Amino acid sequence: MKKSLKQLGAFLILLLIWNSYTNVTEASTFREVYTVNSGSGVLLREAPSTGSTSIQHLTNGTFGTVFSIDANGWARIQVDGVTGYAPINFFKKATGTIKIANSIGGLIVRESPSPTSKNLATLKYKMIIEEFSARGGWSFVQYGNITGYVASNFIGKPITYPAIVASKSGLVVKNIASTSGASIAAIPNGKKVEVHSELMGWAYVSVGDTKGYVVASFLTKEMPVTIPSTNNLINPKQVITHKEMTTFLQQIAAKYPRFTELKQIGTSVEKRPIYAIRIGNGKKEVLFDASIHAREHMTTNVLLEMIDTYSANYASGSSYLGFNVRSVLDKTAIWFVPMMNPDGVTLVQLGANAVANKASVLSINGSSDFNRWKSNIRGVDLNDNFDSEWSKISNSRPGPSYMQYRGPYAFSEPEAKALGNFMTSRPFKTNISYHSSGQIIYWFNYQKALELSRDRGLAGQLSQLTGYKVMPPQYLTGSGASADYFIQETGMPGIVLEISPYVGEKPIPLSNWDLIWKQNAKVGLYVANEAAKR
Ligand SMILES: [Zn+2]
Repeated sequence: MKKSLKQLGAFLILLLIWNSYTNVTEASTFREVYTVNSGSGVLLREAPSTGSTSIQHLTNGTFGTVFSIDANGWARIQVDGVTGYAPINFFKKATGTIKIANSIGGLIVRESPSPTSKNLATLKYKMIIEEFSARGGWSFVQYGNITGYVASNFIGKPITYPAIVASKSGLVVKNIASTSGASIAAIPNGKKVEVHSELMGWAYVSVGDTKGYVVASFLTKEMPVTIPSTNNLINPKQVITHKEMTTFLQQIAAKYPRFTELKQIGTSVEKRPIYAIRIGNGKKEVLFDASIHAREHMTTNVLLEMIDTYSANYASGSSYLGFNVRSVLDKTAIWFVPMMNPDGVTLVQLGANAVANKASVLSINGSSDFNRWKSNIRGVDLNDNFDSEWSKISNSRPGPSYMQYRGPYAFSEPEAKALGNFMTSRPFKTNISYHSSGQIIYWFNYQKALELSRDRGLAGQLSQLTGYKVMPPQYLTGSGASADYFIQETGMPGIVLEISPYVGEKPIPLSNWDLIWKQNAKVGLYVANEAAKR
């Protein structure tokens, strides 16, 4: 009896030591971001006392990392690499925004907002961080116990989707995507959460005030309530708005997480997201885009029907029109950017009342009928705004117009810039750019020798597939077109397909859909398969 009591005592002491040890560990890695909340600012001092030497004056709104707060209310705080002390009541806790690391090569966190400042860490692609401020191209962010500055254009707003915790004992939430991270909360079994990112087997989730990383395999992404059980998620024989497209893409990404990836590659002038979605796990990649011209929004339907059909056949392991879909797309994945010009498409489909810049588009167009509109919402023709000999464009209109105004400078428009950046951010083997109308194919941008015959050959094969006519080379002095920019930057084929018999200056009537799909159903798989050899 005595002996076992002694053992119990020893055990309790051990437990006490272990407990205090873990507490110390957690305290020493405590990091919280605060911001100065005092009109006249506050002095950062060498020691926690008003008599101590001041190091720096921190102005109102300055962000700092708090390591500890002592019993007298003095915080040990670091600002841009300088550590000192200040009274915590001159600060308030900062609230961050959830952002995703979009830099494929890794996101460097620096001590201060300068490219030459100390490199604190490199965060992986798709890691979730909290952003507290963005100024002069630099964002102050936190990842676990790391706080510092990253280039603002390498982080973005993540695309979220719902999931349910499926773990009987619930899930522990970590502050970083690692078992060595601090446990900061727990989420019970059956709870619905929003997933912001997935990487290395971890998912960043949020529910209420709780946010952090959980083990991804304990989440179920099948959401029968929001995802139709049919393998046919969209009816392409209808006008599809940006909002409807967004829902569809989120359903596809949630339904097929193992072989799709949805990301936002940019934002339009009126802040509508520009999405890209990958279908397939192939190491090689090709790029399809559509609706760079507003009135040509039937081209979005073509890409959405490819996404819908190819992913259903991939999931079931079926062949489609002679292609083993899974085997093709696991060699070459397809990235689709189905709506390049969401503001312009919204204007054409829903009219001037649906856009923020109503007065200016009415004045540019001179009419409330926007059926002929090709440009973005500022009256810039996005397919004249790319930096492919932009300065030599000879036929630009002098100012904002429903079409053919190249803009004040190359890549002046966020939509063109988004696709231009995306085109060169990954080693795409082919770009297919969908336009309407006329059933013709453009492919030439001064290629030479083998590239010339390769690209002419691919245009010919697509002509056989679609029945569209291959256009002879056009020797333009300057272009500004997205496919020409792709050819110029990558040396790979960039081909324009103009769907539908010619209809003039207006959208393609829905009655032409059946013919268009028959001509184009195979194009994605054909192009992916062809690219596997490059
Ligand atoms: Zn066009």
